[in-house]
Amino acid sequence: MRLSQMLFVTLRESPAEAEIPSHKLLLRAGYIRRIGSGIYAYLPLMWRVLQKVSQIVREEMNATGAQECLLPQLQPAELWRESGRWDTYTQAEGIMFALQDRQERELGLGPTHEEVITTIAKDMIRSYRQLPLHLYQIQTKFRDEIRPRFGLMRGREFIMKDGYSFHTDEESLKKTYQDMHQAYSNMLRRSGLAFRAVQADSGAIGGSGSQEFMVLAEAGEDEVLYTEDGQYAANVEKAVSLPADAQESPFTTYEKRETPGTDTIEKLCKFLKCSPTQVVKNVLYQAVYDNGTTVLVLVSIRADQEVNEVKLFNELTRVGANYGGKTVLALQVPDAEAQQKWAAKPLPLGYIAPNIGDEFISSTKQVNSKFLRFVDKTAVDLKNFVTGSNESGYHVVGANWNEQFPLAELVVDLRKAKAGDRSIHNSSQTLQSARGIEVGHIFQLGTKYSKAMGATYTNEQGEEVPLVMGCYGVGVSRLAQSAVEQSYDKDGIIWPVAIAPYHAIVTIPNITDAQQVEAAEKLYNELNQAGIETLLDDRDERAGVKFKDADLIGIPYRIVTGRSLQSGKVEVVERATLKKHEILLDEVIPTLKQWIDAALK
Ligand code: ATP
Ligand code: MG
Repeated sequence: MRLSQMLFVTLRESPAEAEIPSHKLLLRAGYIRRIGSGIYAYLPLMWRVLQKVSQIVREEMNATGAQECLLPQLQPAELWRESGRWDTYTQAEGIMFALQDRQERELGLGPTHEEVITTIAKDMIRSYRQLPLHLYQIQTKFRDEIRPRFGLMRGREFIMKDGYSFHTDEESLKKTYQDMHQAYSNMLRRSGLAFRAVQADSGAIGGSGSQEFMVLAEAGEDEVLYTEDGQYAANVEKAVSLPADAQESPFTTYEKRETPGTDTIEKLCKFLKCSPTQVVKNVLYQAVYDNGTTVLVLVSIRADQEVNEVKLFNELTRVGANYGGKTVLALQVPDAEAQQKWAAKPLPLGYIAPNIGDEFISSTKQVNSKFLRFVDKTAVDLKNFVTGSNESGYHVVGANWNEQFPLAELVVDLRKAKAGDRSIHNSSQTLQSARGIEVGHIFQLGTKYSKAMGATYTNEQGEEVPLVMGCYGVGVSRLAQSAVEQSYDKDGIIWPVAIAPYHAIVTIPNITDAQQVEAAEKLYNELNQAGIETLLDDRDERAGVKFKDADLIGIPYRIVTGRSLQSGKVEVVERATLKKHEILLDEVIPTLKQWIDAALK
């Protein structure tokens, strides 16, 4: 392709809308243009990158025996009602764009395709003989994200590879899951990315496992906790660890103490000269279920620890049936305004005890009359602890479970693991923290969708049983941008060779010099014929401008038909290292071929 004929517009300045380097660079280098919030046009250079990523994804998927298909983006609401997700997806999370057609039928624009694929499986899979089966597609997804940002990283319209597998049993599912783990590792390695596979939250349905593939980069929205020995890595949402040991309590007898102005743990510990590991803090939450019921939740946890709200959300989903709810629509620490809706009298905030009375709740049809009480495992083992007294300005010291405070039935792990904690698999390993960009997610779904939608098959014994399912996603457009986030310098993008839009760019420093033009045209044609994807910068621009643009767009090899032509050579510059080589005209193609092959290994 000739630059003189391309839509080639680069910007000197970073657009104000962009916050992270990869977003700035893709805009500046003319790869993408913003059309609306979270909506981007993939311009020709970007489209080539996306197609290369897609091709790598496709090759790795096909190698596992998965088959490509293409499912509809317009999805009838009935399917989502069958799975029970219509209301959560259109109202609660509000992630799905919903619309009505001219016959007033409701439809959604696909944010994901479990419902569609399960319907197909229900219709077409009859017998164990058809299993296992794995279908995937590469397609545009729509999600009305709360905070679209960072360009292609979190778009409202983006490209995903999503695959769904069907099995007779867990064992077969596990095998495909392992194959996907390998396929995803291959995709990322081939795309030239540094990544880590981590344990991920799989929500309340649990499933037997889920892993995310994280591209390591400072700008990542996710936090990953891992150990140096390589034995443990998890998303902080899911991570577990050993908490620091609690110090022995100095309070040996139970008493109520006046503790004025100690509504924070820090003030309290300073006042009582004690450690937060001797204090039980009681954190109030408010959960709203999908049937409209509000439940007030109290979490008692050791005061040096924080509540992991993802773990809490999962526990709340697990007990939802007690409240007639299936899913949690909202979970928050109720602010003053929220408290007004249900508090019968002012709460002793900062002084709440594990047994705060249910009379603080003025119950209605919408508000459950009792606190739902959880005790985190860190709080259970404490002896002679400090905690609130349910009266502002007072705490109690020397308290014990089952003496002054009944131990709640629900003792669970709700704490947030953090960097510096000791690891569970080996307590001499401490957790380290890194930032990651989630580019892939593999998930053992089990029978959640097949049961809900009645997708069954007949097993060898002739019984009709639900299909066991797995699902596997890769954010193709997010992956492409994360490659830039991992690889750039002050001058621009440095594409990994495997996903660069072109391998090489031939730059003519001076287009009025016939010898330069002739040599460049010849090289350009021969390189392309040899399968080396090459651009020709034949624009009527100063050499400096051309060099800057070539660096900005990040093409791996720049070939300059300049002064060295006198000695039958051209200058070849490696974008990644900025290393310069003088190479004889005849040797340009074999040399580049060799470099590119080596880079694609
Ligand atoms: P996130 O937690 O980042 O919102 P997710 O858990 O919703 O992601 P999945 O539903 O598992 O993501 O989707 C599979 C993959 O699609 C993700 O791993 C990610 O790479 C990509 N992806 C998800 N949402 C977006 C988005 N808004 N823009 C671009 N890529 C996305
Ligand atoms: Mg999401």
